Amino acid sequence: MNPKWNGQFSCFDLVARVGEKTADKKNEHARTIVQVRDIEIGGNDFVVMAGPCAVESESQLLQTAEAVAEAGARILRGGAYKPRSSPYAFQGLGVEGLKILRKAREATGLAIVTEVMSEEDVDLIAEYADIMQVGTRSMENSALLEALGQCGRPVLLKRGMTATLEDLLRSAQVIAVAGNSQVILCERGIRTFETATRNTLDIAAVPVLKAVSHLPVIVDPSHAAGVRSLVPVLSRAAAVVGADGLIVEVHPCPEQALSDGNQSLTFAEFRHMMTDLQPYLELQQESRQMRPQLLAAGGAD
Ligand code: PEP
Ligand code: MN
Repeated sequence: MNPKWNGQFSCFDLVARVGEKTADKKNEHARTIVQVRDIEIGGNDFVVMAGPCAVESESQLLQTAEAVAEAGARILRGGAYKPRSSPYAFQGLGVEGLKILRKAREATGLAIVTEVMSEEDVDLIAEYADIMQVGTRSMENSALLEALGQCGRPVLLKRGMTATLEDLLRSAQVIAVAGNSQVILCERGIRTFETATRNTLDIAAVPVLKAVSHLPVIVDPSHAAGVRSLVPVLSRAAAVVGADGLIVEVHPCPEQALSDGNQSLTFAEFRHMMTDLQPYLELQQESRQMRPQLLAAGGAD
């Protein structure tokens, strides 16, 4: 491993191993596999989570769930509680949205990932969600992170838009120390001086995080790009650098979406994206098999 990273991140070597009852000594370099129903995140599969930014209605969510499941997604995303930059913007359907998510799971078998914004909502959301999403604006909310330590569900931890990788790992460690080692890290773009994209996708974050931690790492190309035309190409980049999966926004009619319509894919666009990803995933599988140690270390220095 690059000595710089080792020095910089050595305090996180055990991130999320804390509290892992089965962590066997000989296996301390093994990667964490997050088990969500019958899905393994961080193992050999590339797991795609897809769905609307926000749950808007039963028909919107059910239609989307069926379309993304048919195209190969395993997990349905959709916010019932929405963190918005403006107090006048749509704030989500709350419990009503959670109930709709549950219906979609029953109808399609997809697992559910949805955002939790406050420690007060953790128990309620854990009754409906298979994965608890922590948004970019909440990454450093320590009361929330600590409450997630006891929620009994895996956590999808998004990188704060101005957070370093070290900050992200520190937040993962807070959840782990509070009792929950099932954490998935998510690169979703950061604030830089560039304004052509909504955020700047830090693609190098993927191999660095995989080199310095054993947690699964996924990419959110939608919030990174801010425009739908860039989502497929950023997804391909994520596959090639070794991400364990994606979280992508998809909407039946993006022009009418109550949030993030510009970056949401239509059903057809999502289907094409999934098909076009295949050769890139095969390429990545081949190189993993050819040089596993090099890739595990994040490539040559
Ligand atoms: C979302 O997933 O819709 C969302 C609000 O993401 P982020 O926290 O990355 O902005
Ligand atoms: Mn969104």
